[in-house]
Amino acid sequence: MQKNDMIELTITDLSVEGSGIGKFQGMTFFVKDTVIGDVIFAKIMKLKKNYGYARLMEIKEASPNRVEPHCVYARACGGCQLQQMSYESQLAFKEKKIRDNLIRLGGFSKEELYEVMEPVVGMEHPFGYRNKAQFPVGYDRDGNVVTGFYAGRTHNIIPNTDCALGVPVNRMVLETVLSYMRAQRVSAYQEATGKGLVRHVLIRCGFDSKEIMVCLVINGRELPGEGKLAEMLKKIPGMTSISLNVNTQKTNVILGRETRTIWGRDTIKDALYLRNVSDFSRTGKKTVYQISPQSFYQVNPLQTEKLYSLVLDYAALTGKETVWDLYCGIGTISLFLAANARKVYGVEIVPKAVEDARENARLNGIGNAEFFLGKAEEVLPEFYGRAKAGGAKEDMLHPDVIVVDPPRKGCDEKCLDTMLKMRPERIVYVSCDSATLARDLRVLKGGGYEVRKVRGVDQFGETVHVETCVLLGRK
Ligand code: SAH
Repeated sequence: MQKNDMIELTITDLSVEGSGIGKFQGMTFFVKDTVIGDVIFAKIMKLKKNYGYARLMEIKEASPNRVEPHCVYARACGGCQLQQMSYESQLAFKEKKIRDNLIRLGGFSKEELYEVMEPVVGMEHPFGYRNKAQFPVGYDRDGNVVTGFYAGRTHNIIPNTDCALGVPVNRMVLETVLSYMRAQRVSAYQEATGKGLVRHVLIRCGFDSKEIMVCLVINGRELPGEGKLAEMLKKIPGMTSISLNVNTQKTNVILGRETRTIWGRDTIKDALYLRNVSDFSRTGKKTVYQISPQSFYQVNPLQTEKLYSLVLDYAALTGKETVWDLYCGIGTISLFLAANARKVYGVEIVPKAVEDARENARLNGIGNAEFFLGKAEEVLPEFYGRAKAGGAKEDMLHPDVIVVDPPRKGCDEKCLDTMLKMRPERIVYVSCDSATLARDLRVLKGGGYEVRKVRGVDQFGETVHVETCVLLGRK
């Protein structure tokens, strides 16, 4: 067996990254763009000791769960991994991914999970759901300015202004930016040399408000003819905020620290509706949010409504409780909770997001939510220590509920440790990475908590990602 050999494989499983897995002469092969049940011909690309990678060349027999990808770039683009799978099998894959991680890394038994796991919450339409996109800008082989998406595992840009996961207006914005750049001879940033000006175009769209935000990330402080750009962009219906973000670092981090509005408002607004968790239908109750370019805001607002309604349901608030909401972003979950709690304390690391959170409390007439700037693993122990010594409000010491919604790397050990010391009745853990979730649940279980409910919420159709919501109770 060697590189470039053609082999026949039956796909029997999927990796956590969404690659199909098949066996050939005792070796395990990973093949992108395949579905469980496919019989395929594949070319060996890379061989390791007992596994390898192969490229799908031909489908001999298609799995019943295979569908025609929506987007012509589905295979090349690094954005989607599962477009070739029916949406039901995507959901089954995600539920299995959560279950496998909890068993493998969290020390749960199969039986235990059968008791507590509820069916994953799917989307009505797994396309056109993203309210935010960050498009890299660069050059094609002929030196034309292009924008689109990175090809899988590389930083080569596939020109595409019309991503199937995004909103239709993205295309109009991107075409406008490209024609402005051509007309004004504005350069695109080149990673290899660190030269060139325009790095990324960030677009956000309020699904409820229909407000649009455009932020150009530039490798410098000035954009030639920025007035001209604003002139062109503001004609797009819904345009509300146009800004420039300065990022002169050689880094993969998209946004720099400094943002300057060149037209319109600094932020856009959007609203999220509370839903009934029995059937996830919308109630009439909504919360309004203002969002800055730098702030985190969930990218799939319709599924976010389901997720937050689930969080509120798991938190089981009666109006008397004190709640900590850690990693609170712009206060989205905090404000959902505040209407049903006595007091909510939020903690967030991004200064702009904390400003937004405070403004959002005001916007919604919520007076019982307070927000603190800093790392959860520093702010929480600090207040715990102070409250214990009588130097902070007593209700901070032993909250009834703690909600956490950390980034992919999960919670810091110091944060988990303090949560345990605080002995809340319930902990609601919202996670975008079930592997780090499993690791953290193991710690919380060891500290006297039991997992009562686990439910996946699909925020990211066509990709391998899934959000998980977990309820823990004190034993
Ligand atoms: N709950 C919010 C945000 C979740 S995303 C929502 O649903 O919209 C995770 C958030 O954690 C981001 O806003 C990020 O800026 C913040 N964050 C990252 N590391 C942190 C830390 N160590 N302490 C506090 N917040 C952190």
